[in-house]
Amino acid sequence: MKLHRNPSRAVNKAIEQFKRQEITRKELIKVLKHYPDHPIGDLVPEYHREEQQKLIANGKIPNGAIIANLDKQEPNGSYDCKAYYVDETFRCVDCGIEHTWTAEQQQHWFEVVKGSIYTQITRCRDCDRTHKKEKQAQQNK
Ligand SMILES: [Zn+2]
Repeated sequence: MKLHRNPSRAVNKAIEQFKRQEITRKELIKVLKHYPDHPIGDLVPEYHREEQQKLIANGKIPNGAIIANLDKQEPNGSYDCKAYYVDETFRCVDCGIEHTWTAEQQQHWFEVVKGSIYTQITRCRDCDRTHKKEKQAQQNK
């Protein structure tokens, strides 16, 4: 894809196209990934912003959590709102070792990679790398 000189024009155009259903959510996310810092504005449901504000106002954000930038998450009209990121422990499906998915890593995943807010991490970094290599090797056979 050719990168636009003016990111906000490229993103705003894609957002308008998405609203008119001329492009799919997937295509929109592809554009957003090129400009991860660009806010998606009114594609964030108002009830998500309200829920996040309520959590902050009521002191419901856990210590050490990172408050999410809803404008940078993938556009989703889901009922659920990912208002903040907090360190999560998980057991890797491959090595069986317990790891931490840090708040920073989640922020990167949801706001830069534009991962779905329903993503659950299943593999640690090392196993993920091995898994991807094996998958690639299989495709190249
Ligand atoms: Zn592992």
